[in-house]
Amino acid sequence: MKYEVDTHCHTIASGHAYSTVIENAQAAAKKGLKMIAITDHGPAMGEGVNRYYFGNMTVIPEQIEGVYILRGIEANILDNEGTLDLPERYLKKLDIVLAGLHTGCFVKGTVEDNTRAVIEAMKNPYVDIIVHPGNPEFPLDIDRFVEAAHEYNVHIEINNSSFTVSRKGSKDNCILIAKKAAAIGARVSLGSDAHICYDIGNFDKAEEVIKEAGIPAENILNTSMKKVIDILKSKGRQVVPSYKTSTKI
Ligand SMILES: [Zn+2]
Ligand SMILES: [Zn+2]
Repeated sequence: MKYEVDTHCHTIASGHAYSTVIENAQAAAKKGLKMIAITDHGPAMGEGVNRYYFGNMTVIPEQIEGVYILRGIEANILDNEGTLDLPERYLKKLDIVLAGLHTGCFVKGTVEDNTRAVIEAMKNPYVDIIVHPGNPEFPLDIDRFVEAAHEYNVHIEINNSSFTVSRKGSKDNCILIAKKAAAIGARVSLGSDAHICYDIGNFDKAEEVIKEAGIPAENILNTSMKKVIDILKSKGRQVVPSYKTSTKI
Protein backbone atom coordinates (compact mmCIF):
# COMPACT_ATOMS: atom_id res chain seq x y z
CA MET A 1 0.00 0.00 0.00
CA LYS A 2 1.20 3.53 -0.72
CA TYR A 3 1.09 6.24 1.92
CA GLU A 4 1.22 9.95 1.16
CA VAL A 5 0.96 11.38 4.67
CA ASP A 6 2.50 10.78 8.09
CA THR A 7 0.05 12.11 10.67
CA HIS A 8 2.30 11.77 13.74
CA CYS A 9 5.79 13.35 13.88
CA HIS A 10 7.72 15.00 16.72
CA THR A 11 10.41 17.68 16.72
CA ILE A 12 13.08 18.75 19.22
CA ALA A 13 10.38 20.91 20.82
CA SER A 14 8.97 17.77 22.49
CA GLY A 15 12.09 17.63 24.66
CA HIS A 16 12.86 13.98 23.96
CA ALA A 17 12.93 14.06 20.15
CA TYR A 18 15.90 14.91 18.00
CA SER A 19 14.99 16.59 14.70
CA THR A 20 13.67 19.95 13.56
CA VAL A 21 10.59 20.71 11.45
CA ILE A 22 12.91 21.30 8.50
CA GLU A 23 14.80 18.03 8.97
CA ASN A 24 11.48 16.19 9.22
CA ALA A 25 10.27 17.78 5.98
CA GLN A 26 13.52 16.91 4.21
CA ALA A 27 13.26 13.30 5.37
CA ALA A 28 9.61 13.16 4.27
CA ALA A 29 10.51 14.51 0.82
CA LYS A 30 13.21 11.86 0.48
CA LYS A 31 10.66 9.14 1.28
CA GLY A 32 8.20 10.52 -1.27
CA LEU A 33 5.59 11.69 1.26
CA LYS A 34 3.39 14.61 0.24
CA MET A 35 2.44 15.79 3.72
CA ILE A 36 3.42 15.42 7.37
CA ALA A 37 1.76 16.57 10.58
CA ILE A 38 3.98 18.16 13.22
CA THR A 39 2.47 16.84 16.44
CA ASP A 40 4.58 17.68 19.46
CA HIS A 41 3.41 16.69 22.93
CA GLY A 42 0.97 18.97 24.73
CA PRO A 43 1.88 21.20 27.69
CA ALA A 44 0.97 18.66 30.39
CA MET A 45 3.91 16.45 29.53
CA GLY A 46 6.67 17.57 31.86
CA GLU A 47 9.18 18.32 29.19
CA GLY A 48 6.53 19.27 26.62
CA VAL A 49 5.81 22.48 24.89
CA ASN A 50 4.05 25.54 26.26
CA ARG A 51 0.75 26.61 24.75
CA TYR A 52 2.24 29.58 22.89
CA TYR A 53 4.22 27.15 20.73
CA PHE A 54 0.94 25.81 19.36
CA GLY A 55 -0.53 29.29 19.07
CA ASN A 56 2.37 30.41 16.90
CA MET A 57 2.55 27.43 14.51
CA THR A 58 1.03 29.58 11.78
CA VAL A 59 4.53 30.93 11.13
CA ILE A 60 5.49 27.53 9.71
CA PRO A 61 5.28 27.64 5.91
CA GLU A 62 2.60 25.55 4.22
CA GLN A 63 5.25 23.66 2.35
CA ILE A 64 8.87 22.90 3.19
CA GLU A 65 11.02 21.01 0.70
CA GLY A 66 7.83 20.42 -1.33
CA VAL A 67 6.11 18.68 1.59
CA TYR A 68 2.91 20.15 3.02
CA ILE A 69 3.03 20.70 6.77
CA LEU A 70 0.00 20.25 9.00
CA ARG A 71 0.20 22.21 12.25
CA GLY A 72 -0.86 19.80 14.98
CA ILE A 73 -0.51 18.54 18.50
CA GLU A 74 -0.41 15.23 20.33
CA ALA A 75 -2.61 16.40 23.19
CA ASN A 76 -2.78 14.68 26.55
CA ILE A 77 -6.09 13.41 27.88
CA LEU A 78 -6.00 14.51 31.51
CA ASP A 79 -9.01 12.95 33.24
CA ASN A 80 -12.13 10.80 32.97
CA GLU A 81 -14.01 13.71 31.46
CA GLY A 82 -11.69 13.64 28.46
CA THR A 83 -10.23 17.08 29.19
CA LEU A 84 -7.30 17.97 26.92
CA ASP A 85 -4.23 19.95 27.93
CA LEU A 86 -4.74 22.69 25.34
CA PRO A 87 -7.69 25.09 25.47
CA GLU A 88 -10.11 25.37 22.59
CA ARG A 89 -8.81 28.79 21.53
CA TYR A 90 -5.51 27.12 20.62
CA LEU A 91 -6.97 23.87 19.29
CA LYS A 92 -9.06 25.74 16.75
CA LYS A 93 -5.96 27.32 15.20
CA LEU A 94 -4.46 23.92 14.43
CA ASP A 95 -4.98 21.77 11.33
CA ILE A 96 -5.04 18.41 13.13
CA VAL A 97 -5.39 17.25 16.73
CA LEU A 98 -4.19 13.90 18.04
CA ALA A 99 -5.04 12.90 21.60
CA GLY A 100 -4.09 10.05 23.87
CA LEU A 101 -3.23 8.72 27.29
CA HIS A 102 0.34 9.21 28.52
CA THR A 103 2.18 8.27 31.67
CA GLY A 104 2.52 11.21 34.01
CA CYS A 105 -0.42 13.06 32.45
CA PHE A 106 -3.27 10.63 33.18
CA VAL A 107 -3.68 8.63 36.38
CA LYS A 108 -3.86 5.00 35.37
CA GLY A 109 -7.38 3.78 36.03
CA THR A 110 -9.56 0.74 35.53
CA VAL A 111 -10.55 -0.36 32.03
CA GLU A 112 -13.79 1.54 32.61
CA ASP A 113 -11.91 4.73 33.62
CA ASN A 114 -9.53 4.57 30.67
CA THR A 115 -12.31 3.83 28.19
CA ARG A 116 -14.49 6.62 29.50
CA ALA A 117 -11.62 9.13 29.33
CA VAL A 118 -10.89 8.28 25.70
CA ILE A 119 -14.54 8.24 24.62
CA GLU A 120 -15.19 11.60 26.30
CA ALA A 121 -12.13 13.02 24.51
CA MET A 122 -13.52 11.76 21.18
CA LYS A 123 -16.65 13.83 21.75
CA ASN A 124 -14.41 16.91 21.51
CA PRO A 125 -15.00 18.11 17.92
CA TYR A 126 -11.35 19.08 17.57
CA VAL A 127 -10.03 15.56 18.14
CA ASP A 128 -9.19 13.83 14.86
CA ILE A 129 -7.11 10.82 15.91
CA ILE A 130 -6.74 8.78 19.11
CA VAL A 131 -3.10 7.76 19.38
CA HIS A 132 -1.70 4.36 20.36
CA PRO A 133 -4.92 2.95 21.92
CA GLY A 134 -3.34 -0.51 22.15
CA ASN A 135 -0.99 0.60 24.94
CA PRO A 136 -1.23 -2.16 27.58
CA GLU A 137 -0.51 0.41 30.29
CA PHE A 138 -3.96 1.93 29.74
CA PRO A 139 -6.17 -1.01 28.70
CA LEU A 140 -9.44 -0.12 26.96
CA ASP A 141 -12.75 -1.87 26.39
CA ILE A 142 -11.89 -2.43 22.74
CA ASP A 143 -15.41 -2.97 21.43
CA ARG A 144 -16.76 0.19 23.05
CA PHE A 145 -13.73 2.23 22.06
CA VAL A 146 -13.85 1.26 18.38
CA GLU A 147 -17.63 1.67 18.17
CA ALA A 148 -17.36 5.15 19.69
CA ALA A 149 -14.55 6.13 17.31
CA HIS A 150 -16.80 5.11 14.42
CA GLU A 151 -19.75 7.02 15.88
CA TYR A 152 -17.79 10.23 16.55
CA ASN A 153 -15.87 10.13 13.27
CA VAL A 154 -12.49 9.89 14.96
CA HIS A 155 -9.59 7.94 13.49
CA ILE A 156 -7.92 5.15 15.42
CA GLU A 157 -4.16 5.24 15.21
CA ILE A 158 -2.10 2.17 14.49
CA ASN A 159 1.20 3.47 15.81
CA ASN A 160 4.29 2.01 14.22
CA SER A 161 6.59 2.76 17.15
CA SER A 162 4.35 0.68 19.44
CA PHE A 163 5.86 -2.34 17.66
CA THR A 164 9.46 -1.15 17.68
CA VAL A 165 10.71 1.14 20.47
CA SER A 166 7.70 2.11 22.61
CA ARG A 167 4.81 0.65 24.61
CA LYS A 168 6.00 -2.95 24.69
CA GLY A 169 3.22 -5.52 24.56
CA SER A 170 0.89 -3.41 22.38
CA LYS A 171 0.63 -5.77 19.45
CA ASP A 172 -2.10 -8.14 20.63
CA ASN A 173 -4.34 -5.21 21.59
CA CYS A 174 -3.63 -3.47 18.30
CA ILE A 175 -4.61 -6.55 16.32
CA LEU A 176 -7.89 -6.81 18.25
CA ILE A 177 -8.54 -3.09 17.70
CA ALA A 178 -7.77 -3.36 14.00
CA LYS A 179 -9.98 -6.43 13.57
CA LYS A 180 -12.87 -4.69 15.29
CA ALA A 181 -12.31 -1.62 13.10
CA ALA A 182 -12.35 -3.83 10.01
CA ALA A 183 -15.56 -5.52 11.17
CA ILE A 184 -17.55 -2.30 11.60
CA GLY A 185 -15.84 -0.06 9.03
CA ALA A 186 -14.18 2.28 11.53
CA ARG A 187 -11.38 4.41 10.11
CA VAL A 188 -7.73 4.20 11.07
CA SER A 189 -4.59 6.24 10.55
CA LEU A 190 -1.04 4.92 10.48
CA GLY A 191 1.41 7.07 12.43
CA SER A 192 5.18 6.68 12.58
CA ASP A 193 5.37 8.62 15.88
CA ALA A 194 8.84 9.56 14.67
CA HIS A 195 11.05 11.12 17.34
CA ILE A 196 13.89 11.47 14.82
CA CYS A 197 13.60 12.33 11.14
CA TYR A 198 14.83 8.94 9.94
CA ASP A 199 11.63 7.31 11.23
CA ILE A 200 9.27 9.61 9.33
CA GLY A 201 7.01 7.53 7.08
CA ASN A 202 7.97 4.23 8.70
CA PHE A 203 4.76 2.20 8.73
CA ASP A 204 6.09 -1.30 8.04
CA LYS A 205 5.06 -2.89 11.36
CA ALA A 206 1.72 -1.07 11.51
CA GLU A 207 1.00 -2.20 7.98
CA GLU A 208 1.38 -5.84 9.02
CA VAL A 209 -1.40 -5.31 11.57
CA ILE A 210 -3.63 -3.57 9.03
CA LYS A 211 -3.12 -6.42 6.59
CA GLU A 212 -3.79 -9.10 9.18
CA ALA A 213 -7.03 -7.37 10.15
CA GLY A 214 -8.09 -6.79 6.54
CA ILE A 215 -8.75 -3.04 6.76
CA PRO A 216 -9.41 -1.70 3.25
CA ALA A 217 -7.38 1.21 1.87
CA GLU A 218 -10.43 3.50 1.76
CA ASN A 219 -10.67 3.31 5.56
CA ILE A 220 -7.03 4.28 6.08
CA LEU A 221 -6.62 8.05 6.39
CA ASN A 222 -3.07 8.53 5.24
CA THR A 223 -3.14 6.69 1.93
CA SER A 224 -4.02 10.00 0.27
CA MET A 225 -3.27 13.65 1.00
CA LYS A 226 -6.54 14.63 -0.67
CA LYS A 227 -8.42 12.35 1.73
CA VAL A 228 -6.69 13.95 4.73
CA ILE A 229 -7.60 17.44 3.54
CA ASP A 230 -11.18 16.50 2.63
CA ILE A 231 -11.81 14.77 5.97
CA LEU A 232 -10.30 17.56 8.06
CA LYS A 233 -12.31 20.14 6.14
CA SER A 234 -15.49 18.07 6.53
CA LYS A 235 -14.89 18.22 10.29
CA GLY A 236 -14.78 21.99 10.10
CA ARG A 237 -11.01 22.29 10.36
CA GLN A 238 -9.54 25.17 8.42
CA VAL A 239 -6.52 23.25 7.24
CA VAL A 240 -4.51 25.79 5.28
CA PRO A 241 -6.93 27.58 2.97
CA SER A 242 -4.59 27.71 0.03
CA TYR A 243 -4.15 23.94 -0.11
CA LYS A 244 -5.01 22.78 -3.58
CA THR A 245 -4.64 19.12 -4.23
CA SER A 246 -3.95 19.89 -7.87
CA THR A 247 -0.97 22.06 -6.91
CA LYS A 248 2.25 20.77 -8.31
CA ILE A 249 4.39 19.75 -5.37
ZN1 LIG B 1 2.14 9.33 22.52
ZN1 LIG C 1 3.93 10.80 19.70
